Amino acid sequence: MATSTKTLTGPRPLAARVRALRPSATLAVGARAKELKAAGVDVLSFAAGEPDFDTPEPIKEAAKKAIAEGMTKYAPVPGDNDSRSAIAEKLTAENRIPGVTPEHVVVSTGGKQSLFNLFMALLDPAGDGSEARRVILPVPAWVSYAPQAQLAGGEVHEVVTTPETAFKMTPEQLDEALSPDSRVLVLNSPSNPCGTMYSPDEIRALGAVIERVTTGPAPRCPHLVVVTDEIYEKLVFDGQEHFSIGSIPSISERVLTVNGLSKAYAMTGWRVGYFAGSGDFGVEVAKATAKLQSQSTTAIPTFILPTLRVAFEQCQDFVEHLRSTFEQRAEVMYNGLTAIDGLVCPRPTGAMYAFPDVSAHFGKSSPKGTRIDSALAFSQALLDEHHVALVPGEDFGTGGEKCCRLTYACATEQIEKGIERLREFVDSLR
Ligand code: PMP
Ligand code: GLU
Repeated sequence: MATSTKTLTGPRPLAARVRALRPSATLAVGARAKELKAAGVDVLSFAAGEPDFDTPEPIKEAAKKAIAEGMTKYAPVPGDNDSRSAIAEKLTAENRIPGVTPEHVVVSTGGKQSLFNLFMALLDPAGDGSEARRVILPVPAWVSYAPQAQLAGGEVHEVVTTPETAFKMTPEQLDEALSPDSRVLVLNSPSNPCGTMYSPDEIRALGAVIERVTTGPAPRCPHLVVVTDEIYEKLVFDGQEHFSIGSIPSISERVLTVNGLSKAYAMTGWRVGYFAGSGDFGVEVAKATAKLQSQSTTAIPTFILPTLRVAFEQCQDFVEHLRSTFEQRAEVMYNGLTAIDGLVCPRPTGAMYAFPDVSAHFGKSSPKGTRIDSALAFSQALLDEHHVALVPGEDFGTGGEKCCRLTYACATEQIEKGIERLREFVDSLR
């Protein structure tokens, strides 16, 4: 006889780590915008940070050729020799990071997995060995750093930045945040979501602080390493130079540089990322993350590996075209946003985002009666009433709750239309 035994035999509660985990807000808003579009709503989406360009032909051809030639079996976990060499050569010649060899490189399923592997390899949960679990995170920061670090057992310590300093952490702020239990400093320049970047001198000044606290007979932060996410390095504007902190010789062995093909080569769906360190510690970390990866995803699809060298060696004209297009769009987005009443936004200098502070409108209500008391309420009313999707800033950390993120990875015409709708929305708030 059928009686309900649900409470007896049903699934047990899921693990605390997933119950506490927030899904990626950037992916969630992007998916919601796509759903609405599919349902016939004329949504203008400024949500997902994904170039609207097609992947360059030489890259597609390289993958097709690899499939035709039978590169369809498991690859070595950290990537094959040629792709690791191509990355080591790039980091040496272009980023000027000393001492990078193929042995220091691990290729992963997107920069996201490289970051995940690194946090897992570097952090111990409380009570599990090392006391150095503090992760210094300048915020606002990309939505995945804090959850990934926390999943690995790290304790996130935010360094709060503001639009007035273009969301950049000062050397004094860094110095103040550092303690003997500091393990990882996360840097991301150019920044998602802030759309700004550090100058070479600003990076050098942060490097000097790191050198000071990690060297000498009794260093204040003996365990500190830097995880620098340089995935937007090619998207830099106004003639600025991207400078890799790993190129500073006195600290290079403590720096783990993360990058990937998603942004510069319009390859978000291919899932290719990597990291490299240098020196003995870099090899140790590479081996540790490869071990982790051998127990999770193994390697990236084998026939995608040759695209790394092809991207670096044959697609630089494409990268420049992408960069200059984004530079023009950034200008249109910035001029449009800052002409809207109450929106405050630093000038975009890199990546593909603008991150305006919309808090001047908190406390007002929309024509349909939504009270605008947060970035989330602002973005929901905007989507509902004017069909514009942007990412509310709450999940980017402290300071983000006043802001919304818009990407200009879309046609200029769409940016102009979206700005117009945003202006109408803001003007309708009472
Ligand atoms: N870092 C930052 C700052 C990003 O914006 C992204 C975008 N997804 C990533 C890393 C990871 O990208 P992917 O996994 O596609 O390489
Ligand atoms: N990094 C992109 C973004 O921030 C893609 C989505 C994600 O991985 O978070 O929009």
